[in-house]
Amino acid sequence: MIDDCKLIKKGLLMSSTTSSPSSKASQLSEGNSKVKVSKTSPDPYTFIECERPLPVFKNYETEKACPEQWNDWKWQFRNRITSLESLREYMPVTPEEEKAFQAAGKNLPFAVTPYYLDLINPFNAQDPIRKTVIPRLAEFMTAAHESIDPLGEDADMPVPGLVHRYPDRVLFLINETCSVYCRYCTRSRVVGSGEHRVEYEAIYDYLRKTPAVRDVLISGGDPLVMADHKLESVIQNLRAIPHLDIIRIGTKMPVVLPQRVTDDLLAMLKRYHPFYMSIHFLHPDEITPEVEDACNRIADAGIPMFSQTVLLKGVNDHPETMKELMLKLLKIRVKPYYIYQCDPVQGTSHFRTRVKTGMDIMEHLRGHITGYGIPTYVIDAPGGGGKIPVAPNYLLNYGNGKATLRNFENNVYEYFDA
Ligand code: SF4
Repeated sequence: MIDDCKLIKKGLLMSSTTSSPSSKASQLSEGNSKVKVSKTSPDPYTFIECERPLPVFKNYETEKACPEQWNDWKWQFRNRITSLESLREYMPVTPEEEKAFQAAGKNLPFAVTPYYLDLINPFNAQDPIRKTVIPRLAEFMTAAHESIDPLGEDADMPVPGLVHRYPDRVLFLINETCSVYCRYCTRSRVVGSGEHRVEYEAIYDYLRKTPAVRDVLISGGDPLVMADHKLESVIQNLRAIPHLDIIRIGTKMPVVLPQRVTDDLLAMLKRYHPFYMSIHFLHPDEITPEVEDACNRIADAGIPMFSQTVLLKGVNDHPETMKELMLKLLKIRVKPYYIYQCDPVQGTSHFRTRVKTGMDIMEHLRGHITGYGIPTYVIDAPGGGGKIPVAPNYLLNYGNGKATLRNFENNVYEYFDA
């Protein structure tokens, strides 16, 4: 049940009060007057001149930002919605969501960019994107087998900020800040906590002394919330280590803040090839023209992109939803890479599907869309066993010189082994 509406959706009058986009944004402009927007974070101080404020939200009638501001990633970042009060200015909040905010305490913080919030239908409490970013009471329940660090990452840190689990690759948890906080986050113990430690020099030193490592995945938090020059300084240090062949970034920014994909960022990243990007997508609704443009420009910069998708109940657990997402990813030149079973992180049982749901999705994909569009469905083994692929069984029998196989239509074939 949605509370009384206090905003005007385009073409749909819900009350006599026009909402402002946020308490910060509401200070930005009045009518059509010229506005200066200060941007002290995360980059040095700059201005954007806003000559003609225009409605730039799709779902909210407001003149509190102009296209120049809307398209500026630092404006988006500075104007993130981070409290119940500012969220109420945009959308009706359900009683359950209200209680979840009040119970939040020291839990995972709340933040969402204006851009990403605008993808949510404010009048649909079951909107899939809404479920992933707005707190709900179920977050405060801990189910059996859940823990704050289900993958045992903290135990695999030789240096604060660096997880070394697989022989030839490491995970560099560069920061704890994201532009949007996902309610199912595996690293909810870290993100936004203010307690994450990263010992940069010790990390570079460890990597220099560990020649078995060929591949660094920079993640967090989200590395792309950092200013270009800060990120470049880290990448430069990594590139100076001769045995590091590949550098990857794990990010959700091209999805939740596609404005971050600036020409300057791409020009910088291009200098450090071979460079790859793992991008966190959830739902076909995320593939907007803005995201398409961002991904096409990343591809044009020669950076291969791979998707990572967490399987979430009520969000993307229908086979057709996942199929649509994979097909849309291919169209924007992102290779579907992983579907993850939702990790047993404390307070996420309401998101977790049965493993069979994931298997059914894979069955629905294989043979029905091009193999390019088929990700690997994995369960990240609790306790630190790493990613284990899980797939429907197409090998029905193997032995006595033959393999008995079934195809995607359940027709059975025999292959005679050499
Ligand atoms: S962007 Fe990634 S690290 Fe940040 S909250 Fe979402 S899942 Fe967690």
